[in-house]
Amino acid sequence: MDTKKTLSMNPIISDMSKYKEIFWLNPKSKTPSPIPFSMKDIDDAESRLKRFAPYIAKVFPETAKSRGIIESKLIEIPKMKDCLSSMCGPIGGRLFLKCDSHLPISGSIKARGGIYEVLKFAESVAIDKGLLDIRDDYAKLADEEFRQLFGNYSIAVGSTGNLGLSIGIISAKLGFKVTVHMSSDARQWKKDLLRSKGVTVIEYPDDYQRAVAEGRKEAMTDPMCHFVDDESSQDLFLGYSVAAKRLASQLSDANIQVNKDHPLFVYIPCGVGGAPGGVAFGLKEIFGTNVHIFFAEPTHAPCMTLGLITGLGDGICVSDIGLDGITDADGLAVGRPSKLVSSIMETLLDGCYTINDENLYPFLAKLADKEKIYIEPSSCASFKGPSMVTAADKYLSDNSISNIDNACHILWATGGSMVPDGEMKLYYERGK
Ligand SMILES: *Cc1c(COP(=O)(O)O)cnc(C)c1O
Repeated sequence: MDTKKTLSMNPIISDMSKYKEIFWLNPKSKTPSPIPFSMKDIDDAESRLKRFAPYIAKVFPETAKSRGIIESKLIEIPKMKDCLSSMCGPIGGRLFLKCDSHLPISGSIKARGGIYEVLKFAESVAIDKGLLDIRDDYAKLADEEFRQLFGNYSIAVGSTGNLGLSIGIISAKLGFKVTVHMSSDARQWKKDLLRSKGVTVIEYPDDYQRAVAEGRKEAMTDPMCHFVDDESSQDLFLGYSVAAKRLASQLSDANIQVNKDHPLFVYIPCGVGGAPGGVAFGLKEIFGTNVHIFFAEPTHAPCMTLGLITGLGDGICVSDIGLDGITDADGLAVGRPSKLVSSIMETLLDGCYTINDENLYPFLAKLADKEKIYIEPSSCASFKGPSMVTAADKYLSDNSISNIDNACHILWATGGSMVPDGEMKLYYERGK
């Protein structure tokens, strides 16, 4: 069977294969299927992050204010709402930005899952060696004794950039030897920054999948090496999921209700799927059918959308429909979704949409002008979502949403605060 030909008979896939922007509602989102994780797993990850908080506060002074909890603000952006309403169509309800773009330590959503996975590995090594008990004050992990212990181990990861930054920074801080395998999409400044922290950076002329494959290969030959596998890691996924509990308390602090009459809509840029998938899972656990979650991808690399529409998950790659996978949204430049996450999203996710690279920059510039918040291009992939959902009459009626003006929409800003000024200025000018 010629897959390409069969697929092109599906009108949405045919549009996707021509790099057209699409909006897809998941017909399976009403038929939940069992998920291999539960609230207990999220609670466990959250407790682990709490145990590490005294250590984080000690070695990353910028987190002292939050007592070592790595968290971002939820900010209402009414001026941007007006602006998006005129650019993309009316938005019913309030509009917020979840500023993971400004998370401490690594300036992207990867400061959640990436750091979590390395901390979990460090904890298991230290407990194994009899040097740590979970009732201890983890600030002691900053002592030379632990740095020496961790120096016997190495960490490896394949990345388009931001995951490498987060894994590299935390691993080097703990004392691990760390190698980051970077794809061609990765920005030079990210490689430079990692090298300045003593991280080994290996560059590949090809895409993200090759970088991951090389990292995995290296790790397999070394029993003392822990490989952070962005294509299937449960630890990454659960580290991200903790964001949902934190968001729930921020919403409640802001007196924002989430219930049948006050639905919550969350829009998250998606690469391989781990970060948005973990967040989506956590939010569905907490808010059930009162939260609606949409992923945004670039038209050149819509891997999760393709995997979900076809039902093939990681069994299909964007090049199978003739796409080149090349995009300015470097954090999303992924050709094939995570196997773990695409299978969970099959019935959990409410929909997906895609955006052209050129359309990212005007959003970036407007957000800077209207709200004085600077985020990276990948982070802007989701900005059309609230207008599209507001206009999706059938979706709203199918979900018994009678008054969209009661809704709360959250655009998840996934990265940007570490982008060098000169680079950000170029993005901004392009958007003007
Ligand atoms: C990694 C990343 C994403 C998506 O996360 P995945 O786990 O790859 O799906 C989105 N935006 C930015 C800026 C990222 O770095």
